[in-house]
Amino acid sequence: MQTMEQRVIADPAPQNILASDKPVEIADRVWWVGHLIPDDNFQCHVYLIEQGTESVLIDPGSMLTIEQTLKKVEQVIPLNHLKYIICQHQDPDITASLPYLAKKLQSKDVHLVTHWRSQALLKHYGLNFPFWLVDRHNWQLELEDRMLNFVFTPYAHFPGAFCTFDGKTRVMFSSDLFGGFTENPTLIAEDEAYFECLRPFHEHYMPSRDILQFALTQLRQYPIRMIAPQHGSVIPEHLVDFMFNQLQQLDCGLYLLMQEQGHAFKKLSQLNQTLRDITDTMLLYRDFKDIASTLRNIIQRDLPVASLEFFALDSNDCCVSFLPKHRYLGHTCTQDCCPVKYLGIHKQDWLDEAEQDLNIQPAGTPAYSLKYENNRLALLVPLFGPKSQQARQMVRIWLHYPTLQTDTLNRVICSLTTPLQIALEREMIYREIEKNRNEAYQRSIRDPLTGCFTRYYMEEAVSRLFALHDREKDSCLSVVMIDIDYFKRINDTWGHTLGDEALQQIALTLRDNIRDSDILVRYGGEEFLLCMPLCSLDEARKKVEKLRELISAQPLATPTGDHKITASAGAVERQRGESLEHALRRADYALYKAKYNGRDRLCVIEDLELISKEFIV
Ligand code: GH3
Ligand code: MG
Ligand code: MG
Repeated sequence: MQTMEQRVIADPAPQNILASDKPVEIADRVWWVGHLIPDDNFQCHVYLIEQGTESVLIDPGSMLTIEQTLKKVEQVIPLNHLKYIICQHQDPDITASLPYLAKKLQSKDVHLVTHWRSQALLKHYGLNFPFWLVDRHNWQLELEDRMLNFVFTPYAHFPGAFCTFDGKTRVMFSSDLFGGFTENPTLIAEDEAYFECLRPFHEHYMPSRDILQFALTQLRQYPIRMIAPQHGSVIPEHLVDFMFNQLQQLDCGLYLLMQEQGHAFKKLSQLNQTLRDITDTMLLYRDFKDIASTLRNIIQRDLPVASLEFFALDSNDCCVSFLPKHRYLGHTCTQDCCPVKYLGIHKQDWLDEAEQDLNIQPAGTPAYSLKYENNRLALLVPLFGPKSQQARQMVRIWLHYPTLQTDTLNRVICSLTTPLQIALEREMIYREIEKNRNEAYQRSIRDPLTGCFTRYYMEEAVSRLFALHDREKDSCLSVVMIDIDYFKRINDTWGHTLGDEALQQIALTLRDNIRDSDILVRYGGEEFLLCMPLCSLDEARKKVEKLRELISAQPLATPTGDHKITASAGAVERQRGESLEHALRRADYALYKAKYNGRDRLCVIEDLELISKEFIV
């Protein structure tokens, strides 16, 4: 055995470290004990975890290398300290030396750590080793000062394949995953360029992208500091994330391998990519307009799609259309729009309808109908929810020309329907929320009794008018307070309900007779504020007199006969730079004067008269 000083600590630089007859410590008491075979770009690595009398040999190798491996092991521990041999899968480059090892070691004391699926094959060697199955031991092996976790990576090179993570050193023994082909092998990968050795190893060796993705996701849950694969080079910490990311983007497996063998596989691979992209689009985008335009680009790869249109019923059963010409922003659409008549249709009715008129009737797929509309060809696809018998949404796919690839058509449409339905439903819910939000906003800015703006809104709207007034040198703006005279008497005489009606009547008169640009606020109970942009005090005077006339010309009908209503008003012209509070105080003062002087009149305060000290803010 060696002392720490004698140990060779891995250094990526020397090329020949693999050729030496010494073990290499790649992490604390984790040793590379493989053997370099000249001119072999498929180097097989063996690792030893030094753990006293519980030491572990990982993927022992074949007859070509085992003797050299054991010599290296013996430089670290006596062979009888080996207690576990891990076989992460069952290929000959890992297991062909097992019969030899069984003879050489006291095999009954050494446990063969593997998955039951490998055991089913390895037992044919007729070994004496007791099996220790990872899947029967909760995927963990507890050693004296470290825990080994076995990570299941099924079908990544073998149905029962797994990898081994050492919690102490955070080395992931990754078996064939992260393996590489290397012409000039180095023990440790040097830089990102090494990925090009991984690429061919995985592209044509991993069965499919999904299986590789699953395996990578499993491995990535561990805090890996180093990856020790069975082939190629060890991946040091600074390259771990990079290699993971690259592999995650790699296409691999059956479809690539079969490409030369025919168009069908290529088509299938392309279609699978389309289906994946459809799902990704649904997950990535929130806005329906983004989903719709991305989807069109995706399915154009497989179908001669000219454009996509969507239709959905809202909660009031009104049809909303999402069309490219409106950039897929929803528009309420008219009843004569062709697909609208199919919205809300029941499944059986649609199937009957489609049968008469259907060019394509694919079995087991949602029925869709191929129709000519205005000499253009469209596919109509109603979207029936999993439990619903009614199509509340519908897609119209305009085609450039008829497509005969019914298989492709069916698969694309099948995979479109559910995600599209979710996207459309989601969009309709967003619209409903937006509508409710807008109604709530309208409620907050409008007084429910009179329909005039609230004081809450006044602050915002009037201050905007004031800002404009400040910028326009020659403009003018008047502020008027209007208060109903002796209003309390109406309530006291005929009750509040009639009082309310009087207020509504007066507010309507005011609202109907002011400009759209004027802002009418219900300032208090029976008090209104009128803000009149581009209106001089003279013009305001005329306007307010007219309004007062209209109010008094329309008496309130009471149970005891008509009751004439009068109003008092105070008007001022806003001074440039004057605050809202100040202008209101002046207008209120003018109103006070009108009341004081006998009511049923308008009082104005001319500019200079009012800038008395008491009004300066
Ligand atoms: P003045 O000529 O001095 O303005 O007398 P007035 O009676 O109009 O004024 P006062 O401020 O004394 O009374 C206002 C009344 O308006 C009191 C209140 O009950 C009534 N009022 C305020 N808001 C409402 C409302 O929403 N509905 C009804 N029916 N009455 C209201
Ligand atoms: Mg009043
Ligand atoms: Mg009052």
